[in-house]
Amino acid sequence: MISIQEASEKLLEAFRSQEFGPQLTLSIIRRRTDDPVNSLPCTKWSIGNHMLMWLLGHTDAAATFLQWKQLNRRVVKNAKAFPIFSPVTAKVKKQNDDGTVEEKTVIRSFRAVPVFRIEDTIGIAGDLKIPDYTPPEMPPLYKAAEVLNVKVYWKPMSRAAFGYYSPGDNSITLSSTDHVVWFHELTHSVRETLADTNADPDREEIIAEITAAVLMQMQFGETGFHQQSYEYVKRYCKEKSPEGIIKAVMGVLKDVEEVIVKILNAADVAANSTVDQAALF
Ligand SMILES: [Zn+2]
Repeated sequence: MISIQEASEKLLEAFRSQEFGPQLTLSIIRRRTDDPVNSLPCTKWSIGNHMLMWLLGHTDAAATFLQWKQLNRRVVKNAKAFPIFSPVTAKVKKQNDDGTVEEKTVIRSFRAVPVFRIEDTIGIAGDLKIPDYTPPEMPPLYKAAEVLNVKVYWKPMSRAAFGYYSPGDNSITLSSTDHVVWFHELTHSVRETLADTNADPDREEIIAEITAAVLMQMQFGETGFHQQSYEYVKRYCKEKSPEGIIKAVMGVLKDVEEVIVKILNAADVAANSTVDQAALF
């Protein structure tokens, strides 16, 4: 494995010269056809309700108490509902200019409907099993996340994000099996322990993306994501010129190194504890 310095230098070289290797596309976890969530009404909700589901429920599947029951799932005790808004419609008669009467459906108001997230339900008799989207093989440095107490979940992609980190329960949710996405979210989780991540969210994104790119370079000599990383970093840079982007990257390298050292140390702890346990037998 090459050093952090070497990997950073290679990345900066690629960013400076704008010579990027063959581009790779990210793989997305899609919902399986046999996933019973497909049959829930939430798949047909309005964009507004989908946003409520994400913002309030932090989930990609929610339903009313009764709708879960129909799917043979029970809402767990003490689960908190969150509201979505359902239109209250009424039929009105309207007289047209030619004298004919037309009946129209209009939205009178919206009514809050309490729904529960899938994470707060469990299957009961006859339950159609929700497929497990955990990949057959854990991503690299996964053991480091365990040592750092970061939980990881895999879910089908339900919004325009390949993954996200939730500081509330210190968990990472991945909707892609690509290591670069994993490293990006893992960085967000580690940064949470090192700095005030709310101080400059744009800078946090640059740190996460550069750390991921450097880790990919270190672990796999991978350059296929460099162009995407460059474009991603550009989005969060104040100065969009190539020089501005290089400057921004240089400005985060110390933090990138700090994150990588913490991850690699955690990986070492994990490796040593496995050895210790093996020695017991
Ligand atoms: Zn991010």
